[in-house]
Amino acid sequence: MNIILYAVPLFFLLIAIELLLEKAKGTDYYRVNDSINSLTAGVLSRMTGIIKQLFPLTVYVVAYEQLALFEIEPSWWSWLGAFVIYDFCYYWNHRLGHEMNILWAAHVVHHSSEEYNLTTALRQSGSSVFSWIFYLPMAILGFDPIVLITVGSLNLIYQFWVHTRHIPKLGWYEWVFVTPSNHRVHHAQNQIYIDRNYGGVFILWDRIFGSFQEELDNDKPIYGIRKALKSWNPLWANVHVYSQLAKDCWHAKRWQDKLLIWFKRTGWRPADVEQNYPLSKVDLTKFRKFDIPLTLINKFYSLLQYLLITFVGLLLMMNVASLTLAEQILVVIFVLYASLSAGLVMENNPIAIYLEWVKYLLVLITLLMYSLPEWIEWALGISMLINVVVLLFKKNDIINSTGPLMEANN
Ligand SMILES: [Zn+2]
Ligand SMILES: [Zn+2]
Repeated sequence: MNIILYAVPLFFLLIAIELLLEKAKGTDYYRVNDSINSLTAGVLSRMTGIIKQLFPLTVYVVAYEQLALFEIEPSWWSWLGAFVIYDFCYYWNHRLGHEMNILWAAHVVHHSSEEYNLTTALRQSGSSVFSWIFYLPMAILGFDPIVLITVGSLNLIYQFWVHTRHIPKLGWYEWVFVTPSNHRVHHAQNQIYIDRNYGGVFILWDRIFGSFQEELDNDKPIYGIRKALKSWNPLWANVHVYSQLAKDCWHAKRWQDKLLIWFKRTGWRPADVEQNYPLSKVDLTKFRKFDIPLTLINKFYSLLQYLLITFVGLLLMMNVASLTLAEQILVVIFVLYASLSAGLVMENNPIAIYLEWVKYLLVLITLLMYSLPEWIEWALGISMLINVVVLLFKKNDIINSTGPLMEANN
């Protein structure tokens, strides 16, 4: 059972409540482009997960069958034990995800938003390839693969609600558990907050291993990453650090450095690369959020694209067992393509218009060639019709040429 799929309605209900709170309190924690970007990254993460999970799951099952030290019978304590041990493994996975170049390249997606709201929780990486290694000790201890998947899903679902600025510190609960306050610290780029609070459910690990930092009243979190993404392209969000590492690897003169750079502490660069290709230093006192002003039509159109991407993504997740691997890959490629195109629409890039027409051509070909259930054909057909009408008659209102703008407020 895919628990995360069943939690999706709850996620959207809580996002709706947070949006109502935003209206009622007059806060400014949401922006359409940022939220769509986070939500699309979430869909991409689930999509690539479908293709990527085969290998790690196979390794886990083989390790469990061949190396398990104990035979663990299902009971309430074994489930509780699995839940706690999973979070311990998660702590180290997450910590290394921040502290090692190649792992940060994948995890950076989750931190690339300069906002902090419940949509940020869904901005997950689609490009992580090594996370599973951190959970292999559970196979060796003897935890069934089903137990691993279940506690892993519950761990991820728990982490959703902490991505909010509306909940203050929670007294004694702050001592034991990950909370909105101590996770806000984790997402902040202020010097004192960098590389702190890695826990998923229990903040105790951070207290034990010396990585805890409390949220301070006089140091308001500035969300985002030091080397800002400055893009609404969710595919670029997944690869921009890999790209920087590959460039540095190429430029490095010593072959040892070409290898070491991937496994060194995050931010480490070979001395010659640092000297010949310096990166600009970030001054947080001059921090401005990345933004590109959008017309109302663009916001409406972008929201429609997100709905289409989510619809196709959910269809794949619900029907994954009845599709061949080739079909799964084709749908994933379509979602990647549609996400790229949607990102370029929000960046006011004129190329996006051509990409969008190709997308509708692909949907049309699918509708003509495949016999899909009637309600899906209707849903896709109607969505395509609305999109095409907007694109035909409001093209100039979707793409304008105002270009990037840095927001003045924080
Ligand atoms: Zn993190
Ligand atoms: Zn987070």
